[in-house]
Amino acid sequence: MTEPAKPAAAGRASMKKELPERFKDYKNVWVVVEIERGRVHPVSWELMGEGRKLADRLGVQLCAVVLGPKAASTKAAVKQTYHYGADVCYICEDAALTDYRNAPYTEILTDLVNKHKPEILLLGATPLGRDLAGSVATTLGTGLTADSTELRIDDDNSLAATRPTFGGTLLCTIYTLNFRPQMATVRPRVFAMPEADTTRAGRMVWESLRMKEEDIVTKILEFVADNTSSEANLAYADIVVAGGMGLQNEANFRHVKRLAQVLGGDYGCSRPVVQKGWLPAERQIGQTGNTIRPRLYIAAGISGAIQHRVGVEGADLIVAINTDPDAKIFEFAHLGVVADALTVLPALSDAFARRLR
Ligand code: FAD
Repeated sequence: MTEPAKPAAAGRASMKKELPERFKDYKNVWVVVEIERGRVHPVSWELMGEGRKLADRLGVQLCAVVLGPKAASTKAAVKQTYHYGADVCYICEDAALTDYRNAPYTEILTDLVNKHKPEILLLGATPLGRDLAGSVATTLGTGLTADSTELRIDDDNSLAATRPTFGGTLLCTIYTLNFRPQMATVRPRVFAMPEADTTRAGRMVWESLRMKEEDIVTKILEFVADNTSSEANLAYADIVVAGGMGLQNEANFRHVKRLAQVLGGDYGCSRPVVQKGWLPAERQIGQTGNTIRPRLYIAAGISGAIQHRVGVEGADLIVAINTDPDAKIFEFAHLGVVADALTVLPALSDAFARRLR
């Protein structure tokens, strides 16, 4: 009887040595700067900060991609890319890029990639970034790790992008071993905002869009701002007050909202609160909700499960209010109050309201 052939060693180790020769043309780390209605999404600068570290580790250049109409806001964005670490900025100014539309944005970005061959391409995991990254990866026929929570350069210089999987119960690290560029999107606030160095300058590379307006089937007739969405505010708020199941019912969230308002901050909640329908999903904080990095985070009646912790541990100061002295949240809170949140929250609001008057 012959022994069955052993399967080839599975996984990363066996694939490592196959990093193909054809990848040698691919160099540099690119970040796509997201501009909507003249405003740069801060996730772009967060990505530049992380992109700088990756580029330094690889010994290559950090390049930004700025796409938009010929406008002062586009020029200002180009200048800022250098302040946040770019060595080179690829710029395409065209009226067809005024508002985001998938077709012209996908075309210009895939053209740029095919021409200049970046080895890593990063975008924000925003509605715009998710839409664009998906179609660019598909058009280029390369891999994309969406909603990454960590980016690292591995020993063989490939990008290791980590993200939650199996409904958030596991973390997996994904490699794009056989294709270039290696693409990833990262959610706002996962990475810290880097310091801007206004003395930095860099090289500009101008490119043009091949697609003409008449070739684009999507037309923007009107822009209607969604004033009901609070996601952006919560992710970037300096002060956040959040409540969990310890608040016991929907009506008690008035205490959370009031303290947030008195402090000039925003409010959020844990996931079961959303599942109960007490607050909308955009208020959820944690692994499957918003990642926040406020200067002050007050968590009331929240146990501190790992899925909540990962969304808040970037906060400068975490204050936890919980009746259970053994609650997990006290393991990572900077200040802990063992007390009934329904008593402490209104008392804090009254005290701050008096002092801040
Ligand atoms: P509980 O765990 O029920 O804790 C309530 C806390 O309130 C307890 O510690 C209790 O001691 C305290 N308490 C009770 N009464 C009072 C009172 N009067 N005053 C003060 N304290 C009081 N969770 C998230 O938050 N965000 C996520 O993004 C998220 N994503 C998830 C993804 C997956 C795939 C999974 C499996 C889970 C996820 N969860 C998430 C859920 C997470 O595991 C926890 O179940 C959840 O965070 C618990 O919410 P909680 O702390 O509000 O409720």
